[in-house]
Amino acid sequence: RGTSPVPPDVRPRLTVLSGPSGVGKSTVVAHMRKAHPELWLSVSATTRKPRPGEKHGVHYFFVSDDEMDKLIANGELLEWAEFAGNRYGTPRAAVTEHLESGKPVLLEIDLQGARQVRESMSDALLVFLAPPSWEELVRRLTGRGTEPPEVIERRLEAAKVELAAEPEFDTTLVNTSVEDVARELLALVEVV
Ligand code: 5GP
Repeated sequence: RGTSPVPPDVRPRLTVLSGPSGVGKSTVVAHMRKAHPELWLSVSATTRKPRPGEKHGVHYFFVSDDEMDKLIANGELLEWAEFAGNRYGTPRAAVTEHLESGKPVLLEIDLQGARQVRESMSDALLVFLAPPSWEELVRRLTGRGTEPPEVIERRLEAAKVELAAEPEFDTTLVNTSVEDVARELLALVEVV
């Protein structure tokens, strides 16, 4: 008799969507959510103040600095990072619960967070969202038109560093059309 067959990998998957700031991650995720309301998305904790229309527990859990300190100290975050002066982190318990009950999980986080997930969950799928071109990313980052030139310059410098992270990822999706990227990502997350 031969060796028994290797059982298929039935573990549900943790997918991480990351990429440079300004590339359109949250627009893609909003599009996926509209088409597939059953897709569970992790709700992050943040010390950032809510923007108009943002709801506690829906867009983020808005927490104080002290509360964030406690979440970190107690190991309650799967990953966390500081971004533009605020801290953001993924609550670990809800992610574990969903994976254990057989549901796929999608995280939309910055590059520092993606690296931490790579370290702690080796079977996670890391997806890099890339701009169609450098020129297009420049256009998106400068497009708001309200920031002084030195702020824009700093953002562009940061974007160059962020783009260089692409080889660390399992796969890249190019954000030419929100609809196409959302469809490709849904297939990777195995919702469709
Ligand atoms: P915003 O303040 O615009 O909502 O988010 C700023 C950045 O923080 C985005 O790049 C977003 O992907 C990232 N972010 C949101 N939640 C988390 C999180 O839980 N962990 C990490 N590492 N980044 C996050």
